[in-house]
Amino acid sequence: TASLAELDPDVAAAMNGELSRQRDTLEMIASENFVPRAVLQAQGSVLTNKYAEGYPGRRYYGGCEYVDVVENIARERAKSLFGADFANVQPHSGAQANAAVLMALMNPGEKLLGLDLAHGGHLTHGMRLNFSGKLYDTAAYGVSKEDYRIDMDEVRKIAVAEKPKVIVAGWSAYPRTLDFEAFRSIADEVGAYLWVDMAHFAGLVAAGLHPSPVPYADVVTSTVHKTLGGPRSGIILAKQEWAKKLNSAVFPGQQGGPLMHVIAAKAVALKIAATDEFVDRQRRTIEGAQLLAERLTGSDVSAAGVSVLTGGTDVHLVLADLRNSEMDGQQAEDLLHQVGITVNRNAVPFDPRPPMVTSGLRIGTPALATRGFSATEFTEVADIIGTALAAGASADVAALRGRVSQLALDFPLYEGLEEWGMLS
Ligand code: PLP
Repeated sequence: TASLAELDPDVAAAMNGELSRQRDTLEMIASENFVPRAVLQAQGSVLTNKYAEGYPGRRYYGGCEYVDVVENIARERAKSLFGADFANVQPHSGAQANAAVLMALMNPGEKLLGLDLAHGGHLTHGMRLNFSGKLYDTAAYGVSKEDYRIDMDEVRKIAVAEKPKVIVAGWSAYPRTLDFEAFRSIADEVGAYLWVDMAHFAGLVAAGLHPSPVPYADVVTSTVHKTLGGPRSGIILAKQEWAKKLNSAVFPGQQGGPLMHVIAAKAVALKIAATDEFVDRQRRTIEGAQLLAERLTGSDVSAAGVSVLTGGTDVHLVLADLRNSEMDGQQAEDLLHQVGITVNRNAVPFDPRPPMVTSGLRIGTPALATRGFSATEFTEVADIIGTALAAGASADVAALRGRVSQLALDFPLYEGLEEWGMLS
């Protein structure tokens, strides 16, 4: 019955430190978000105790009557939110959802065609050191050198030449919407299955602010913790004909017992994602990213050699291009860190600098939109970032840090969390 702080003060202290960090700085890592209290409660619950291998109504363990209810709710909410025939809510993470999908759609040695990692793709889309690159033959499409967008004629040419078994559309760093209809028609032309990994933009899709891949793809995967704003985990959506293969690829194919506490938290997040308030949050997310892109294309920023890939954004992130700037990605990430803004450096396509340094920054707005930011605050954040990147090494760090602290104070995070008893 000892509390966390009593039993393990070392871990409790680090957790408190992390809470303060989240409160005092501005989180702009494009793949992060803040979950609400109800999600924390579900995830920090006694459901973590339960083994539930199998699926609702067909478990390999007794005592699953309540967790069955939870998993059925989560499945139904996922289907209804995205208009899908089938949902599997058991993947522990986005990567595990993707592993299960590849297991269901293709055999080792067959070919997967995805977006090049260096052009914004994900590790699980065929990267050499990832299971996807080791188990499967791989081919990649990239963005065009002219406009940094995916050119569907080029994708078609590559698909015709490579004859993949599966084509994956989806990205970790790309600022524009994808043409799912064109991907579908290419897949049909070459006899491939179409898998869409909407991990990054699922929240925008749920809000109706981004084209939905569900009508076009054989299978859609997502993480739940990015724009969708839920617990760290994955989901799979598909046409009904894939149900059996996908279920068996998740369990027993890739995983053992599902994390029922996380599935409960997913159910809660999916309920929230169906509200008008969520739609407004996604609208503010995109608006914030567009305000940032506008500021980063300003004359003082361009004079410092910084630009924005594709000149703007349709989604929740902006990719700053530092190839012509004296500052590299690492230095820019460090500078913003000093100012109190957390972002990640990111290689840009055709990046001349090494991957640990890079010539880019990926800057996202979902967490700040969740924190309550709208146009006024995003304009201020954009100006702080623009001013910092324009000034580089000579930036007035203390003044910029002061402006960040004011925004953080004006939008308190997890107010009352101490009283919820989660850390004491
Ligand atoms: N798919 C895409 C497109 C991603 O961006 C990510 C995460 O970065 C993943 C999958 C993997 O998710 P996870 O980190 O939960 O394994």
